[in-house]
Amino acid sequence: MARKRILITGAAGFLGSHLCDRFISEDFHVIGMDNLITGDIRNIEHLFKLENFEFYNHDVSKFVHVPGQLDYILHFASPASPIDYLKIPIQTLKVGSLGTHNLLGLARAKKARMLIASTSEVYGDPSVNPQPEEYWGNVNPVGPRGVYDEAKRFQEAITMAYHTFHGLETRIVRIFNTYGPRMRLNDGRVLPAFIGQAIRGEDLTVFGDGSQTRSFCYVDDLVEGIYRLLFSDYVYPVNIGNPSEITIREFAEEIIKLTGTTQKIVYKELPTDDPKQRRPDITKARSILGWEPKVSRAEGLKITYEYFKSLPKDLIDKIEHKDFKSYNK
Ligand code: UDP
Repeated sequence: MARKRILITGAAGFLGSHLCDRFISEDFHVIGMDNLITGDIRNIEHLFKLENFEFYNHDVSKFVHVPGQLDYILHFASPASPIDYLKIPIQTLKVGSLGTHNLLGLARAKKARMLIASTSEVYGDPSVNPQPEEYWGNVNPVGPRGVYDEAKRFQEAITMAYHTFHGLETRIVRIFNTYGPRMRLNDGRVLPAFIGQAIRGEDLTVFGDGSQTRSFCYVDDLVEGIYRLLFSDYVYPVNIGNPSEITIREFAEEIIKLTGTTQKIVYKELPTDDPKQRRPDITKARSILGWEPKVSRAEGLKITYEYFKSLPKDLIDKIEHKDFKSYNK
């Protein structure tokens, strides 16, 4: 039987590259697409020699042409950190809105099933914790995160419209904080920031008093959840994330212990609109997909730390550390 063909946008990114690996290992023909604005070609270099992998360097905000049949499309192209939203706000808006529209059109033309990567950011700074899919969110459209949050909310809306109006097969995953090897180093996210600081022998910069919470999911667990969602029948959004919630201060302490650094925590200004709490309610993923995370934070952080240690020193030196004056501008 001919291989099923899947287009993965954001293929050179953190999640996109892991998804390429997964679908290659399931014997799909994988077409990766990325404009490399935040993606890194090194994440998928190992796939270039395979006959069932191809790569297009293309910006999906512009018309997307892919020759031949497509069975599935996974739309994972987007800048995905507060620093990136500040640096490239217009591209962030365009890839979530125009990019999604182009890909929905492509999915329709090819009669492909399309899964979009949405985010816990659709909940904004949530007033309920944990967040179930029914919660509509608390988003500031004109704050620094607005370009991402609103693009993702629009993305969900247009995806549902293509489903209800055109009968397109669609799936929506709401992704919570995820970590693991191949995370982008220079986007100011908390895990690369802390591990980079620990390896370089700098103090760890906690923003605010560190009482804000996040819930970190190991990438392999996330990929498994997405894989199951794609092949399920469920068209409404599904949270995929690890419900183990931790304050950022405790998280810094865990990184200090893991790395054995003698550095301490220093406190910096809290960025504007930084959500105070975040934890997925994964009741739906459990019941619909039979999915729940398997990798504990201790195991996942150990693997991730080994990965960071294996990177060349000049990359570690370049991990961006933001002092949040600039962030708030
Ligand atoms: N954070 C921090 N120090 C850093 C980078 C981030 O304390 O060097 C905090 C940040 O303010 C937020 C949390 O860590 O409360 C997670 O930040 P990240 O940018 O990783 O993701 P998001 O806020 O989008 O969940």
